[in-house]
Amino acid sequence: MAESCIFCRILDREIPAKVVYEDDRVVALEDLNPQAPFHLLIVPRKHIRTTLDLSTADNELIGHIFQVAGKLAHDLGFAEDGFRVVNNCNEGGGQSVWHLHFHLLGGRDLSWPPG
Ligand code: 5GP
Ligand code: ZN
Repeated sequence: MAESCIFCRILDREIPAKVVYEDDRVVALEDLNPQAPFHLLIVPRKHIRTTLDLSTADNELIGHIFQVAGKLAHDLGFAEDGFRVVNNCNEGGGQSVWHLHFHLLGGRDLSWPPG
């Protein structure tokens, strides 16, 4: 765990969050500042700083994250209408928390290209 990492602190239950799903590898929680009717963050328990810090050892984890995203979209009822899974990498990509995570957005029409 990285001491100052907000997501590590949430995973350790030091900071409260609305957790909607968890297993041995990931936690899915509601974003504090939702950008859609459904806006979840899928966060691996392993502290990985950015997409650029992934190694081949993490390949299965990333596949699992997408499996969880699809399951949550299905269970929450917006899979068929459509949804988006987003990873922001580094400042220019919109990253603001330095613990790898994937946004799961659904419940409204999502425009393209994103801002
Ligand atoms: P990023 O900008 O790194 O792609 O996404 C970080 C996300 O984390 C943002 O959407 C932001 O609203 C969310 N966030 C930041 N701090 C907290 C927090 O303490 N709790 C929760 N639930 N979400 C947070
Ligand atoms: Zn962390």
